[in-house]
Amino acid sequence: MPMGSEGLLTLTVNVKVSPEPDLYKKLVDLMKQYREALNYSIKFIIENKAISLGKAHRLLYKVLKEKYGLPSKIAQDCYREAIAIAKSWLKNTNKGKIPRANNLRIWLTHGQSYRIKGDYVELLGGYRLKIIGLDRRYDSYPNREARLLLKDGKFILKIYKRVPEPAKYSPSGVLAVDVNERQIVVGNRKSEYRFETHIERALHYRQLAENLQKRHSYPKYNASLRRRGIKRRIKSFHRKAKNIIDDWAKKVSHTIVLLAKQRQHAVVREDLTNLVEALRKLPKEHKTALLILGYRRLEYWIDWQCEKQGVPSIVINPKGTSSICPICGSKLVEVNYRKLKCPKCGFEANRDTIAVINIEKKAYKKMGGSLTTPTAPQMTDVIPNR
Ligand SMILES: [Zn+2]
Repeated sequence: MPMGSEGLLTLTVNVKVSPEPDLYKKLVDLMKQYREALNYSIKFIIENKAISLGKAHRLLYKVLKEKYGLPSKIAQDCYREAIAIAKSWLKNTNKGKIPRANNLRIWLTHGQSYRIKGDYVELLGGYRLKIIGLDRRYDSYPNREARLLLKDGKFILKIYKRVPEPAKYSPSGVLAVDVNERQIVVGNRKSEYRFETHIERALHYRQLAENLQKRHSYPKYNASLRRRGIKRRIKSFHRKAKNIIDDWAKKVSHTIVLLAKQRQHAVVREDLTNLVEALRKLPKEHKTALLILGYRRLEYWIDWQCEKQGVPSIVINPKGTSSICPICGSKLVEVNYRKLKCPKCGFEANRDTIAVINIEKKAYKKMGGSLTTPTAPQMTDVIPNR
């Protein structure tokens, strides 16, 4: 999902669809043709600077129809998509190779290349796809641009709409977010919420995949049909692990941002870039890979939810948040694995409680005059051993 730009947010709704069996192969072929045509167009547009609709139409329309066999409206959608991709690539100052589409998908313009009729999505060219799951939010998405995707053997129609970004309120306080491997701790000096991470659950599937891989790497199992089945299962375990992380990150971010909204608070999170970079340098283990994925998805979804809900968000530098006394600024010492103590002023609390208070403090500092600084945290504000 693209993030907001120019004051607009792009929202999507997913419609699960299934083509009629006799048209399945034909549709997949069309999507393959479209992908070829799209990659050809992107390259052509960039090389010939054909980023205007008129020029692209003049130079590409006939080729896309005749050489790639695209229906006329879909040929237009194809060069339109190519222009959009080429434009964003040209704008990017840090250009890599010319972008290519790898997934099977088609861009569709409502009313021209697709329409929804009863329980079916109808595509230009006589394709009918039965709607299996219609998101209840669909009603607010009529007449929109869409994209048909084929992913993991399933067809999804993604319908897009652009809405104005909601205005952000000025916050009456902050909700700090501290993340560790096991838990996300959310709060401030007054209250605290804890959410378990789903890293362990996802890890379980990663390990299943690994075990299967090990068990079947012996030659006696190498009958090709069987091998194909095993490969598919390994892939599906990996996918399952990834989905667990993504679903969890999405849900917990939604909950956190709504908590902040109810209180008219800002969400403050740490910048996890350095942490992720440090993890990348570790030996490649399943757990590390999942942590990296989890942290990155969390950052993404928290920021996205804040944009969508109009909740102010602040990102702070994590340096010292879990090692410095929030009262006097001295270096804390470990009492035990979870608990830290200040040798100077005697303040003592759980590691994550300390992080939450420090993150809150940093946010106030960063926001400067836009919030009245709270009184310094008192020892009684923190209940130890929670
Ligand atoms: Zn202290």
